[in-house]
Amino acid sequence: MSEAADNTLRLALERIKELGNLSEEKGRLTRTLLSPASREVASRLMAWMEEIKMQVSHNAMGTVRGVLPGTQPRALPLLIGSHFDTAVGAGKYDGVLGIVVGLAALERLAADGIVLPVPVHLLGFADQEGVRFHTTYLGSRGVCGDFDEATYALRDDTNTTLSTFLALAGWTEDSTDIEYAPGSARGFLEVHIEQGRVLEEAGQPAGLVTAICGQSRVVGSVRGRAEHAATTPMELRHDALTGAAECLLAIEKMARENPPLLASVGKMQIDPGTSNSVPGVASFTLDLRHPEDAVRAEFLEKLRARCSAIVTQRGLKLEWRVVLDHDGVSCDVELGRRLAGALTTATGAVPRLASGAGHDAVIMAQVAPIAMLFVRCRGGLSHHPDEFVAEKDVGAAIEVVFRFLKSFLVGG
Ligand SMILES: [Zn+2]
Repeated sequence: MSEAADNTLRLALERIKELGNLSEEKGRLTRTLLSPASREVASRLMAWMEEIKMQVSHNAMGTVRGVLPGTQPRALPLLIGSHFDTAVGAGKYDGVLGIVVGLAALERLAADGIVLPVPVHLLGFADQEGVRFHTTYLGSRGVCGDFDEATYALRDDTNTTLSTFLALAGWTEDSTDIEYAPGSARGFLEVHIEQGRVLEEAGQPAGLVTAICGQSRVVGSVRGRAEHAATTPMELRHDALTGAAECLLAIEKMARENPPLLASVGKMQIDPGTSNSVPGVASFTLDLRHPEDAVRAEFLEKLRARCSAIVTQRGLKLEWRVVLDHDGVSCDVELGRRLAGALTTATGAVPRLASGAGHDAVIMAQVAPIAMLFVRCRGGLSHHPDEFVAEKDVGAAIEVVFRFLKSFLVGG
Protein backbone atom coordinates (compact mmCIF):
# COMPACT_ATOMS: atom_id res chain seq x y z
CA MET A 1 0.00 0.00 0.00
CA SER A 2 1.33 3.46 -0.89
CA GLU A 3 1.97 5.99 1.86
CA ALA A 4 -0.95 8.17 0.70
CA ALA A 5 -3.28 5.15 0.76
CA ASP A 6 -2.00 4.21 4.19
CA ASN A 7 -2.61 7.72 5.56
CA THR A 8 -6.13 8.06 4.19
CA LEU A 9 -7.07 4.62 5.54
CA ARG A 10 -5.73 5.46 9.00
CA LEU A 11 -7.65 8.72 9.00
CA ALA A 12 -10.84 7.02 7.78
CA LEU A 13 -10.63 4.41 10.56
CA GLU A 14 -10.09 7.14 13.18
CA ARG A 15 -13.11 9.03 11.87
CA ILE A 16 -15.39 5.98 11.93
CA LYS A 17 -14.36 5.41 15.53
CA GLU A 18 -14.77 9.08 16.45
CA LEU A 19 -18.27 9.32 14.96
CA GLY A 20 -19.17 5.99 16.59
CA ASN A 21 -18.69 7.69 19.97
CA LEU A 22 -21.18 10.47 19.21
CA SER A 23 -24.44 9.16 20.60
CA GLU A 24 -27.52 10.51 22.33
CA GLU A 25 -27.61 7.53 24.69
CA LYS A 26 -25.07 6.52 27.29
CA GLY A 27 -23.39 3.20 26.66
CA ARG A 28 -24.79 2.54 23.20
CA LEU A 29 -24.91 4.19 19.80
CA THR A 30 -28.19 5.84 18.91
CA ARG A 31 -28.28 8.92 16.70
CA THR A 32 -31.55 10.26 15.38
CA LEU A 33 -32.62 13.15 13.20
CA LEU A 34 -31.28 16.54 14.38
CA SER A 35 -30.32 15.37 17.87
CA PRO A 36 -27.28 17.11 19.44
CA ALA A 37 -25.14 14.07 18.50
CA SER A 38 -26.42 14.25 14.93
CA ARG A 39 -25.59 17.98 14.73
CA GLU A 40 -22.11 17.27 16.07
CA VAL A 41 -21.49 14.59 13.43
CA ALA A 42 -22.73 16.98 10.74
CA SER A 43 -20.31 19.71 11.95
CA ARG A 44 -17.35 17.33 11.95
CA LEU A 45 -18.18 15.99 8.49
CA MET A 46 -18.34 19.55 7.17
CA ALA A 47 -15.01 20.43 8.79
CA TRP A 48 -13.35 17.37 7.22
CA MET A 49 -14.83 18.21 3.81
CA GLU A 50 -13.45 21.75 4.11
CA GLU A 51 -9.96 20.35 4.67
CA ILE A 52 -9.91 19.25 1.02
CA LYS A 53 -11.39 22.59 -0.05
CA MET A 54 -14.93 21.38 -0.61
CA GLN A 55 -17.62 24.06 -0.47
CA VAL A 56 -19.79 22.91 2.38
CA SER A 57 -23.42 23.55 3.25
CA HIS A 58 -26.28 22.00 5.16
CA ASN A 59 -30.05 22.17 4.94
CA ALA A 60 -32.60 22.64 7.72
CA MET A 61 -33.06 18.84 7.96
CA GLY A 62 -29.40 18.50 8.94
CA THR A 63 -28.24 16.93 5.69
CA VAL A 64 -24.70 18.04 4.83
CA ARG A 65 -22.99 18.46 1.49
CA GLY A 66 -19.47 19.13 0.25
CA VAL A 67 -18.97 20.27 -3.34
CA LEU A 68 -15.71 19.73 -5.19
CA PRO A 69 -15.65 21.62 -8.49
CA GLY A 70 -14.47 19.84 -11.64
CA THR A 71 -12.53 21.17 -14.62
CA GLN A 72 -15.72 21.22 -16.70
CA PRO A 73 -17.97 23.54 -14.71
CA ARG A 74 -21.05 22.72 -16.78
CA ALA A 75 -20.72 18.96 -16.37
CA LEU A 76 -23.41 17.28 -14.29
CA PRO A 77 -22.13 16.46 -10.80
CA LEU A 78 -21.38 13.00 -9.56
CA LEU A 79 -22.99 12.39 -6.17
CA ILE A 80 -21.58 10.16 -3.44
CA GLY A 81 -23.34 9.68 -0.15
CA SER A 82 -24.99 7.74 2.61
CA HIS A 83 -26.60 8.44 5.98
CA PHE A 84 -25.16 9.30 9.39
CA ASP A 85 -28.17 8.59 11.59
CA THR A 86 -28.30 5.15 13.20
CA ALA A 87 -30.75 2.56 14.43
CA VAL A 88 -31.20 2.21 18.20
CA GLY A 89 -28.20 0.48 19.81
CA ALA A 90 -26.44 0.43 16.45
CA GLY A 91 -22.97 -0.28 15.11
CA LYS A 92 -20.61 2.41 13.87
CA TYR A 93 -20.29 1.38 10.19
CA ASP A 94 -23.88 1.35 8.89
CA GLY A 95 -24.21 4.60 6.93
CA VAL A 96 -21.13 6.43 8.20
CA LEU A 97 -18.82 4.04 6.30
CA GLY A 98 -20.21 5.29 2.97
CA ILE A 99 -19.59 8.96 3.76
CA VAL A 100 -16.13 8.41 5.27
CA VAL A 101 -15.01 6.14 2.41
CA GLY A 102 -16.24 8.69 -0.16
CA LEU A 103 -14.31 11.43 1.61
CA ALA A 104 -11.18 9.26 1.85
CA ALA A 105 -11.28 8.53 -1.90
CA LEU A 106 -11.54 12.28 -2.59
CA GLU A 107 -8.57 12.86 -0.26
CA ARG A 108 -6.59 10.32 -2.30
CA LEU A 109 -7.40 12.30 -5.46
CA ALA A 110 -6.35 15.54 -3.76
CA ALA A 111 -3.10 13.96 -2.54
CA ASP A 112 -2.31 12.96 -6.13
CA GLY A 113 -3.22 16.44 -7.40
CA ILE A 114 -6.05 15.02 -9.54
CA VAL A 115 -9.01 17.23 -10.44
CA LEU A 116 -11.84 15.39 -12.18
CA PRO A 117 -13.73 16.85 -15.15
CA VAL A 118 -16.99 16.32 -13.25
CA PRO A 119 -17.86 18.13 -10.02
CA VAL A 120 -18.28 15.75 -7.08
CA HIS A 121 -20.88 16.28 -4.34
CA LEU A 122 -20.46 14.33 -1.11
CA LEU A 123 -23.73 13.97 0.79
CA GLY A 124 -24.39 12.94 4.39
CA PHE A 125 -28.08 12.33 5.07
CA ALA A 126 -29.32 13.06 8.59
CA ASP A 127 -32.11 10.49 8.50
CA GLN A 128 -32.39 7.16 6.76
CA GLU A 129 -33.25 4.70 9.53
CA GLY A 130 -36.36 6.66 10.45
CA VAL A 131 -36.13 6.05 14.20
CA ARG A 132 -37.83 9.29 15.21
CA PHE A 133 -40.69 9.52 12.70
CA HIS A 134 -41.03 5.80 11.93
CA THR A 135 -40.50 6.35 8.24
CA THR A 136 -37.30 5.78 6.31
CA TYR A 137 -35.25 8.01 3.97
CA LEU A 138 -36.29 11.48 5.21
CA GLY A 139 -32.78 12.81 4.40
CA SER A 140 -32.59 11.63 0.79
CA ARG A 141 -36.28 12.34 0.19
CA GLY A 142 -35.62 15.90 1.35
CA VAL A 143 -32.98 16.55 -1.32
CA CYS A 144 -35.06 14.93 -4.07
CA GLY A 145 -38.13 17.09 -3.38
CA ASP A 146 -39.98 13.91 -2.44
CA PHE A 147 -41.91 15.54 0.41
CA ASP A 148 -45.62 16.15 0.57
CA GLU A 149 -48.11 17.31 3.21
CA ALA A 150 -48.46 13.78 4.53
CA THR A 151 -44.70 13.69 5.19
CA TYR A 152 -44.81 16.94 7.18
CA ALA A 153 -47.80 15.61 9.10
CA LEU A 154 -45.89 12.51 10.32
CA ARG A 155 -45.77 12.35 14.12
CA ASP A 156 -43.07 11.18 16.48
CA ASP A 157 -43.70 9.43 19.83
CA THR A 158 -44.29 12.79 21.56
CA ASN A 159 -47.08 13.45 19.03
CA THR A 160 -45.05 16.25 17.44
CA THR A 161 -45.44 16.58 13.67
CA LEU A 162 -42.40 16.70 11.42
CA SER A 163 -43.22 20.28 10.42
CA THR A 164 -43.41 21.41 14.06
CA PHE A 165 -40.26 19.47 14.89
CA LEU A 166 -38.38 21.13 12.02
CA ALA A 167 -39.66 24.56 13.07
CA LEU A 168 -38.41 23.98 16.63
CA ALA A 169 -35.31 21.84 16.14
CA GLY A 170 -34.44 22.39 12.47
CA TRP A 171 -30.93 23.53 11.66
CA THR A 172 -32.02 26.83 10.14
CA GLU A 173 -28.94 28.91 10.98
CA ASP A 174 -26.89 29.31 7.76
CA SER A 175 -28.94 26.60 6.11
CA THR A 176 -29.39 26.43 2.36
CA ASP A 177 -31.62 24.22 0.27
CA ILE A 178 -29.94 21.15 -1.13
CA GLU A 179 -32.04 20.01 -4.05
CA TYR A 180 -31.69 17.76 -7.06
CA ALA A 181 -34.18 17.67 -9.90
CA PRO A 182 -34.54 14.52 -12.01
CA GLY A 183 -31.66 14.34 -14.48
CA SER A 184 -29.58 16.95 -12.64
CA ALA A 185 -26.76 14.59 -11.64
CA ARG A 186 -24.38 12.30 -13.50
CA GLY A 187 -24.95 9.52 -10.99
CA PHE A 188 -25.20 8.62 -7.32
CA LEU A 189 -22.78 6.19 -5.69
CA GLU A 190 -23.47 4.70 -2.27
CA VAL A 191 -20.98 2.58 -0.36
CA HIS A 192 -22.61 0.54 2.41
CA ILE A 193 -21.97 -2.51 4.57
CA GLU A 194 -23.59 -5.58 3.04
CA GLN A 195 -25.65 -6.47 6.15
CA GLY A 196 -25.63 -10.03 4.84
CA ARG A 197 -23.14 -12.89 4.49
CA VAL A 198 -22.75 -13.27 0.72
CA LEU A 199 -19.36 -11.51 0.50
CA GLU A 200 -18.09 -13.25 3.61
CA GLU A 201 -19.01 -16.62 2.12
CA ALA A 202 -17.33 -15.64 -1.16
CA GLY A 203 -14.19 -14.49 0.69
CA GLN A 204 -14.35 -11.05 -0.98
CA PRO A 205 -13.96 -7.63 0.66
CA ALA A 206 -16.41 -5.79 -1.61
CA GLY A 207 -19.01 -6.44 -4.26
CA LEU A 208 -21.08 -4.80 -6.95
CA VAL A 209 -24.77 -4.33 -6.22
CA THR A 210 -26.88 -5.11 -9.28
CA ALA A 211 -30.27 -4.04 -7.93
CA ILE A 212 -32.05 -3.08 -4.77
CA CYS A 213 -34.91 -5.47 -4.31
CA GLY A 214 -38.50 -4.48 -4.35
CA GLN A 215 -40.62 -5.54 -1.44
CA SER A 216 -44.17 -6.59 -0.73
CA ARG A 217 -45.70 -6.84 2.71
CA VAL A 218 -48.85 -8.77 3.39
CA VAL A 219 -50.96 -9.33 6.46
CA GLY A 220 -52.62 -12.73 6.16
CA SER A 221 -55.42 -13.71 8.54
CA VAL A 222 -56.67 -17.27 8.79
CA ARG A 223 -60.15 -17.43 10.30
CA GLY A 224 -61.58 -20.54 11.94
CA ARG A 225 -63.66 -20.98 15.05
CA ALA A 226 -62.53 -20.32 18.62
CA GLU A 227 -63.73 -23.17 20.81
CA HIS A 228 -63.05 -24.83 24.13
CA ALA A 229 -59.97 -27.00 23.99
CA ALA A 230 -61.47 -29.50 26.44
CA THR A 231 -64.78 -30.08 24.73
CA THR A 232 -64.18 -29.92 20.97
CA PRO A 233 -63.19 -33.23 19.36
CA MET A 234 -60.30 -32.99 16.91
CA GLU A 235 -62.40 -33.84 13.84
CA LEU A 236 -64.85 -31.00 14.56
CA ARG A 237 -62.26 -28.25 14.95
CA HIS A 238 -61.62 -25.26 12.70
CA ASP A 239 -58.21 -24.44 14.11
CA ALA A 240 -56.93 -21.20 12.56
CA LEU A 241 -53.40 -21.59 13.91
CA THR A 242 -52.68 -25.05 12.47
CA GLY A 243 -54.06 -23.78 9.16
CA ALA A 244 -51.73 -20.75 9.35
CA ALA A 245 -48.82 -23.03 10.31
CA GLU A 246 -49.35 -25.07 7.15
CA CYS A 247 -49.42 -21.82 5.14
CA LEU A 248 -46.10 -20.74 6.71
CA LEU A 249 -44.41 -24.00 5.78
CA ALA A 250 -45.77 -23.72 2.21
CA ILE A 251 -44.42 -20.15 2.01
CA GLU A 252 -41.00 -21.29 3.20
CA LYS A 253 -40.99 -24.21 0.75
CA MET A 254 -41.81 -22.00 -2.23
CA ALA A 255 -39.07 -19.51 -1.33
CA ARG A 256 -36.51 -22.29 -0.75
CA GLU A 257 -37.31 -23.81 -4.12
CA ASN A 258 -37.09 -20.49 -5.97
CA PRO A 259 -33.92 -18.54 -5.11
CA PRO A 260 -33.29 -15.62 -4.90
CA LEU A 261 -36.87 -15.24 -3.66
CA LEU A 262 -36.95 -14.27 0.04
CA ALA A 263 -40.09 -14.83 2.09
CA SER A 264 -40.23 -14.17 5.82
CA VAL A 265 -42.98 -14.36 8.39
CA GLY A 266 -41.74 -12.21 11.25
CA LYS A 267 -44.83 -11.67 13.34
CA MET A 268 -47.91 -13.67 14.32
CA GLN A 269 -50.95 -12.97 16.39
CA ILE A 270 -53.32 -15.58 17.78
CA ASP A 271 -56.84 -14.94 18.97
CA PRO A 272 -58.00 -15.65 21.62
CA GLY A 273 -54.43 -16.75 22.40
CA THR A 274 -55.11 -18.76 25.53
CA SER A 275 -53.78 -22.21 26.35
CA ASN A 276 -57.20 -23.80 26.69
CA SER A 277 -58.77 -22.48 23.48
CA VAL A 278 -58.73 -23.68 19.90
CA PRO A 279 -57.42 -20.61 18.03
CA GLY A 280 -60.15 -18.76 16.14
CA VAL A 281 -57.95 -16.32 14.23
CA ALA A 282 -54.26 -16.56 13.35
CA SER A 283 -52.72 -13.56 11.60
CA PHE A 284 -49.22 -13.38 10.17
CA THR A 285 -47.09 -10.87 8.32
CA LEU A 286 -45.30 -11.82 5.12
CA ASP A 287 -42.27 -9.92 3.81
CA LEU A 288 -41.54 -10.87 0.20
CA ARG A 289 -38.49 -9.74 -1.79
CA HIS A 290 -37.05 -10.49 -5.20
CA PRO A 291 -34.68 -8.48 -7.46
CA GLU A 292 -37.28 -8.63 -10.28
CA ASP A 293 -40.60 -6.93 -9.63
CA ALA A 294 -42.57 -9.06 -12.12
CA VAL A 295 -41.27 -12.25 -10.50
CA ARG A 296 -42.10 -10.92 -7.03
CA ALA A 297 -45.65 -10.10 -8.16
CA GLU A 298 -45.99 -13.57 -9.69
CA PHE A 299 -44.91 -15.29 -6.47
CA LEU A 300 -47.10 -13.03 -4.37
CA GLU A 301 -50.09 -14.31 -6.32
CA LYS A 302 -48.87 -17.92 -6.22
CA LEU A 303 -48.47 -17.72 -2.44
CA ARG A 304 -51.93 -16.23 -2.02
CA ALA A 305 -53.44 -19.03 -4.11
CA ARG A 306 -51.46 -21.72 -2.24
CA CYS A 307 -52.45 -20.37 1.20
CA SER A 308 -56.04 -20.00 0.07
CA ALA A 309 -56.12 -23.66 -1.09
CA ILE A 310 -54.63 -24.83 2.22
CA VAL A 311 -57.13 -23.02 4.41
CA THR A 312 -60.11 -23.92 2.21
CA GLN A 313 -59.22 -27.60 2.48
CA ARG A 314 -59.27 -27.20 6.26
CA GLY A 315 -62.65 -25.44 6.24
CA LEU A 316 -61.07 -22.10 7.15
CA LYS A 317 -61.11 -18.66 5.53
CA LEU A 318 -58.19 -16.50 4.41
CA GLU A 319 -57.95 -12.72 4.37
CA TRP A 320 -54.94 -11.50 2.36
CA ARG A 321 -54.16 -7.79 2.66
CA VAL A 322 -51.19 -6.33 0.73
CA VAL A 323 -50.10 -3.42 2.95
CA LEU A 324 -46.96 -2.38 1.08
CA ASP A 325 -45.76 -2.86 -2.49
CA HIS A 326 -42.50 -1.16 -3.46
CA ASP A 327 -40.86 -1.81 -6.79
CA GLY A 328 -37.14 -2.51 -6.88
CA VAL A 329 -34.50 -0.29 -8.41
CA SER A 330 -31.88 -1.45 -10.89
CA CYS A 331 -28.35 -0.17 -10.63
CA ASP A 332 -27.03 1.64 -13.69
CA VAL A 333 -25.16 -0.52 -16.20
CA GLU A 334 -22.62 2.13 -17.24
CA LEU A 335 -21.75 3.16 -13.67
CA GLY A 336 -21.65 -0.55 -12.80
CA ARG A 337 -19.10 -1.12 -15.54
CA ARG A 338 -16.85 1.58 -14.06
CA LEU A 339 -17.30 0.14 -10.58
CA ALA A 340 -16.57 -3.39 -11.85
CA GLY A 341 -13.36 -2.12 -13.49
CA ALA A 342 -12.35 -0.47 -10.20
CA LEU A 343 -13.16 -3.66 -8.25
CA THR A 344 -11.11 -5.80 -10.64
CA THR A 345 -8.04 -3.58 -10.24
CA ALA A 346 -8.42 -3.10 -6.50
CA THR A 347 -9.51 -6.55 -5.32
CA GLY A 348 -9.15 -8.88 -8.32
CA ALA A 349 -12.79 -9.99 -8.35
CA VAL A 350 -16.28 -8.65 -9.05
CA PRO A 351 -18.82 -10.48 -6.95
CA ARG A 352 -22.32 -9.36 -7.96
CA LEU A 353 -25.23 -9.35 -5.56
CA ALA A 354 -28.66 -7.83 -5.13
CA SER A 355 -29.48 -5.80 -2.04
CA GLY A 356 -32.38 -7.14 -0.05
CA ALA A 357 -32.41 -4.12 2.25
CA GLY A 358 -33.42 -0.63 1.16
CA HIS A 359 -30.86 2.21 0.95
CA ASP A 360 -30.75 5.95 0.21
CA ALA A 361 -29.84 4.98 -3.37
CA VAL A 362 -33.47 3.82 -3.81
CA ILE A 363 -34.64 7.41 -3.33
CA MET A 364 -31.73 8.99 -5.22
CA ALA A 365 -32.69 6.83 -8.24
CA GLN A 366 -35.51 9.38 -8.77
CA VAL A 367 -32.93 11.99 -9.80
CA ALA A 368 -29.88 10.11 -11.11
CA PRO A 369 -28.61 6.70 -12.24
CA ILE A 370 -27.35 4.82 -9.19
CA ALA A 371 -24.45 2.53 -8.31
CA MET A 372 -23.77 0.71 -5.05
CA LEU A 373 -20.71 -0.93 -3.56
CA PHE A 374 -21.22 -3.40 -0.73
CA VAL A 375 -18.47 -3.94 1.82
CA ARG A 376 -18.10 -7.22 3.74
CA CYS A 377 -19.17 -7.08 7.38
CA ARG A 378 -18.52 -9.79 9.92
CA GLY A 379 -21.27 -12.39 10.12
CA GLY A 380 -23.55 -10.06 8.15
CA LEU A 381 -24.35 -8.42 11.47
CA SER A 382 -25.76 -4.86 11.53
CA HIS A 383 -27.95 -2.65 13.75
CA HIS A 384 -25.91 -4.11 16.61
CA PRO A 385 -22.93 -2.88 18.67
CA ASP A 386 -20.86 -5.83 17.38
CA GLU A 387 -21.22 -4.72 13.76
CA PHE A 388 -17.69 -4.95 12.34
CA VAL A 389 -15.76 -4.25 9.15
CA ALA A 390 -12.10 -5.31 8.92
CA GLU A 391 -9.59 -2.47 8.46
CA LYS A 392 -8.31 -3.96 5.21
CA ASP A 393 -11.86 -4.11 3.85
CA VAL A 394 -12.32 -0.39 4.56
CA GLY A 395 -9.01 0.07 2.71
CA ALA A 396 -10.30 -1.99 -0.23
CA ALA A 397 -13.50 0.09 -0.39
CA ILE A 398 -11.51 3.35 -0.47
CA GLU A 399 -9.29 1.93 -3.23
CA VAL A 400 -12.35 0.90 -5.29
CA VAL A 401 -14.01 4.33 -4.98
CA PHE A 402 -10.70 6.09 -5.72
CA ARG A 403 -10.35 4.07 -8.93
CA PHE A 404 -14.04 4.50 -9.78
CA LEU A 405 -13.58 8.28 -9.52
CA LYS A 406 -10.42 8.16 -11.64
CA SER A 407 -12.39 6.40 -14.39
CA PHE A 408 -14.09 9.78 -15.00
CA LEU A 409 -10.74 11.19 -16.18
CA VAL A 410 -11.28 9.32 -19.44
CA GLY A 411 -14.43 9.73 -21.45
CA GLY A 412 -16.18 11.95 -18.84
ZN1 LIG B 1 -27.69 2.04 6.36
